[in-house]
Amino acid sequence: MTISVKKVSLQRTTRDQIFLPAILEGLLTTARHFFKNTFTPGHGDVETIRYGEPGVDVKDYYPERFRGVHRLMHREDGSVRCVACMCCSTVCPARCIYIEAEDRRDDAEKAPRSFVIDELKCVVCGFCVEACPCDAIRMDTREHWIPTETRAEAVLGKVELMSRGEQSVAVQGGLGASYREQAPKADPRFTHDPR
Ligand code: SF4
Ligand code: SF4
Repeated sequence: MTISVKKVSLQRTTRDQIFLPAILEGLLTTARHFFKNTFTPGHGDVETIRYGEPGVDVKDYYPERFRGVHRLMHREDGSVRCVACMCCSTVCPARCIYIEAEDRRDDAEKAPRSFVIDELKCVVCGFCVEACPCDAIRMDTREHWIPTETRAEAVLGKVELMSRGEQSVAVQGGLGASYREQAPKADPRFTHDPR
């Protein structure tokens, strides 16, 4: 079988081919913004905010639902609320959540032995928070991720993520924080016998 290649010529004008007008247009735009920002009192109508550098308090500028650095929430006993269900790492489009599960000794659930997020890969979509079934991971720290010199500094482990967390009072499993003591079998969702 013969495979033919169709050639398509780009419809470039002489003006496009010499690039000079486009370069000059770009320089003029840059110069216009430079002089406007520099010499207009109050910076005119140019929309800028200060970047969240260490020591510069710009947190109040963030909207209430701003997605900041992640944190892991706690149970009443201070242990991690996460049950290592992997929903967040599965839904994460950037594949930047790495979880290693282990059994909880005091419970039938699992817990993360390690929980790592690479904040440099994160695209701040918030899907992990949406997917979590038990309010274990949040992005409501109102902390802007600061620039780092090495990738390793941007990789947060379980201890650091939990240091930003606090006890969650959200209803876990739909029956409250002490749902295991609340006769869960009385709830219709637990009465279905799959056998
Ligand atoms: S915010 Fe989005 S990209 Fe970042 S860890 Fe969560 S799911 Fe992944
Ligand atoms: S943070 Fe939430 S979604 Fe992610 S593994 Fe833990 S319980 Fe599951």
